[in-house]
Amino acid sequence: MWRRDVEEPTPIYHGPVTPPPHVRISAKGVDRVRAGHPWIYRSDLTAIEAAAGDCVVVRDQRGRTLGHALYSDRSQIALRLLTRDEQLPATLWRDRLERAIAFRGSLALDATACRLVHGEADLLPSLVVDRYGDCLVLQALSQGIERRTAEIVGHLVDLLAPRGVLARNDPRVRTLEGLEQKVELLHGEVPPAVRVREGRVEYEADLWHGQKTGLFLDQRENREAAARYAKGRALDAFAYNGGFALHMAPACASVLAIDVSEEAVARLAANAAANGIANIEARAANVFDELRELERAGERFDTIVLDPPAFARSRAALPKALSGYKEINLRALKLLTPGGVLVSCTCSYHVDEATFGQVIYEAAIDARVPVTVVEKRMQGRDHPVLLGVPETYYLKCLVLRRVG
Ligand code: SAH
Repeated sequence: MWRRDVEEPTPIYHGPVTPPPHVRISAKGVDRVRAGHPWIYRSDLTAIEAAAGDCVVVRDQRGRTLGHALYSDRSQIALRLLTRDEQLPATLWRDRLERAIAFRGSLALDATACRLVHGEADLLPSLVVDRYGDCLVLQALSQGIERRTAEIVGHLVDLLAPRGVLARNDPRVRTLEGLEQKVELLHGEVPPAVRVREGRVEYEADLWHGQKTGLFLDQRENREAAARYAKGRALDAFAYNGGFALHMAPACASVLAIDVSEEAVARLAANAAANGIANIEARAANVFDELRELERAGERFDTIVLDPPAFARSRAALPKALSGYKEINLRALKLLTPGGVLVSCTCSYHVDEATFGQVIYEAAIDARVPVTVVEKRMQGRDHPVLLGVPETYYLKCLVLRRVG
């Protein structure tokens, strides 16, 4: 029989069928997904077949696929949705990185430093990538991103050919994911000081040790705006490396820049010298004490910037934070000359726009000064807000004028 001559195919052993990692979520979780929020909390998970950092299929109670997400076995944010598609596209990471980078290119920013990837708002939840000239700084803020860091860096190197990629994985939020806080070089080299430019201002940024990833990139456009209003004698409170002060100085008679960090003030002074700016006085002090001191001494300013750190890091901290915001705004309004401008910021997500407006109003009433709102501003366009995700709208900036 001819059949006998045909070799039998060797049977392939596939092993036990292992389904892809998956989780089931409650009706409440499904509602959140439908409302466009990428976070699903642990309390909304009803079944888990997944390990830390897995990319999981998300299913509803009837087993229908809702999408794919990064799973964390530690954080209260158990799932960060990547897509609501049935299938996870093989090129998802590459495509999204490319799109995020192309968007920043389209903004035609007059700066050599900007945010390239802003987490959720770029559909790359818990991933931050900032560009400082030819260096990149990355933050992996979840187990899922941590596990994919090598792949992400591979794409970034491919797309941008950076001189170096540094992981600033030292934010405290990493501990909520059970991840270590560390700073490490992932590719090439990143020098101790990197020169970047914002408009006509040059900075030396310390990507290894500076606050955030080196600079407060989210304030770039507000610094430009402040420079447009700046005049006379100016005060830059919570100045860090002098972002606002350096931009305002050319339009002002003098600028007093205050920050509690000695290191920040030293860099501020160095930045001023490197930019050939001689009318900035950099002072290391606590702004709360200093504002009181300046008021007692009868000092006055024509322009004031208040850019404090986030006073409210949680909802529980809100009442205390609001009294802090009120205090500095009240003092600043008293120090302001009639016709003077106050640029007042909050980067606490928990202090929403309406609440911040209310705080300023109460400060103005207590200071007994009439105040107008000249501009409402927010974080720079390279840090966009994802609609339906209030957590991505964190920075509010009001330009106010003391009218009388
Ligand atoms: N305006 C800066 C960013 C400011 S970030 C820029 O445009 O780059 C907030 C700064 O406030 C940090 O540099 C921090 O060191 C400083 N800071 C925090 N608490 C302070 C306090 N009580 N007094 C003075 N500075 C403070």
